[in-house]
Amino acid sequence: MPNATLLILVAVLLPPRALDALGQLVEERVILTPYGEAGPLALRVMPDGLATWVQPYSGLPTRTDPRATIYAARQLGVRRILNWDMGIGLNTLLQRGEPFIVDDYISWVNHQADTFFSEAPMGMDVNAANLRTAFCPELTRQLRELMPGAPQGVVLGADFLRRETAAEARMFRMFGADVLSYNLVPEVALAQELGICYAGLVTVSALGADRPAVAAHGELRQTLHAVVDLLPTFAAMASQPPTCHCGKHE
Ligand SMILES: [Zn+2]
Repeated sequence: MPNATLLILVAVLLPPRALDALGQLVEERVILTPYGEAGPLALRVMPDGLATWVQPYSGLPTRTDPRATIYAARQLGVRRILNWDMGIGLNTLLQRGEPFIVDDYISWVNHQADTFFSEAPMGMDVNAANLRTAFCPELTRQLRELMPGAPQGVVLGADFLRRETAAEARMFRMFGADVLSYNLVPEVALAQELGICYAGLVTVSALGADRPAVAAHGELRQTLHAVVDLLPTFAAMASQPPTCHCGKHE
């Protein structure tokens, strides 16, 4: 079986055949972990042999325990994860359809599932070893190379299932968050604990509840396709052996 070291968590809505861009579907798997089932994960292989795991990922009520997702990735031998999510543009400079590269996060989630160290008095220090951020600097740089004009900043990760209120949008903005997303946190922290590189990309699908509503003009669909077109190049870059330090603290 081809050896895939990259997993792409796809939390955006795409037409059924869009992910054929990453190659032919050769296998689907559901992985049983101590935290429940993860998957199905699809193994896709390009004509040149480049193999990538792809998992549809959604923050709706059926949401998998985030620990199952990251634990399963490690069981499969995954060393790097790209999480591509849709999110709410809190920063007034962000427009609908824009891709946003995440370089840090604020957690607004249920804290029972945000660490593998639940028996330990304290989880990992995210600032240890001069990592500075839980997001992989190398994967983040590769995203920047592929999307040179894309804005970059802080995601607030929430796990409530409704839209934010206008007051919450203003508060999150005051915290320093640029986008609100439902699928990136705590996965990023869990990946960091297991030494797996993790990168976050958010396509802005709506504006914060305190911002004036704008009519849609198909910009979301266009930019989703533009990102899909970049995925094979990203997969090739991200499947090279890492030179970052994300896996070095285990
Ligand atoms: Zn890394």
